[in-house]
Amino acid sequence: MKQVKVLFVVVLVAAFAAMAFAGAAGDASLQKLLEGNKRYVEGNFATKDLGETKRKDVGKGQKPFAIVVTCSDSRVPPEILFDQGLGDIFVIRVAGNIVDPIELGSIEYGAEHLNSPLIFILGHTKCGAVKATLEAKGAPEGNIGAIVKKIQPAVNAAKKKGGTQEEMLETAIRENMKNVYKDLMTKSKVIPHLVKEGKLKIVAGEYNIETGAVAMIDLPKMPEGKMAH
Ligand SMILES: [Zn+2]
Repeated sequence: MKQVKVLFVVVLVAAFAAMAFAGAAGDASLQKLLEGNKRYVEGNFATKDLGETKRKDVGKGQKPFAIVVTCSDSRVPPEILFDQGLGDIFVIRVAGNIVDPIELGSIEYGAEHLNSPLIFILGHTKCGAVKATLEAKGAPEGNIGAIVKKIQPAVNAAKKKGGTQEEMLETAIRENMKNVYKDLMTKSKVIPHLVKEGKLKIVAGEYNIETGAVAMIDLPKMPEGKMAH
């Protein structure tokens, strides 16, 4: 009986240690990205191997330490603004940094198969996709409508909160990132599962296209019952 008790304690301690380790991996990834952003803001880029040796090295397999979900905007290149090199970050880039089944599948691949311990949702100031949704009059042309539809709830929340056009845009950009987080947790089974296991951390931040700095934003608490499972 005593042995069983000891075994139980050992298993429990091991489980907590594993969780702490996994959480620590996500924290370490976040720190790496934020340190890279600091170097970028200061114009103090790290020396990176972009040559043949590195290509051969990553050619053997990739192990990106973070997944970055960001906008297609030409002013928001994640490898540059986080000062990272080949094989470092797994990037999902689409106008308005929104996620539908194709983006979610890419993220699931990065998290589950490449074991990236961090998802960074990166929105940015003056986002054209969010601005277009805010200013939209009538139905948008072609496939852009699918993007506008996805951003619309964030714009509705911003309009409800009110303020100047600029303030509403800023609110909508942040609300949109929160909605992306909700999509990750409710429209994927794999992602909330990995989060609950402590193997995956999700954070969000806003990139300022003029200063170059990334400011972290708080994500809403996701009630267990609302998560996909
Ligand atoms: Zn944008």
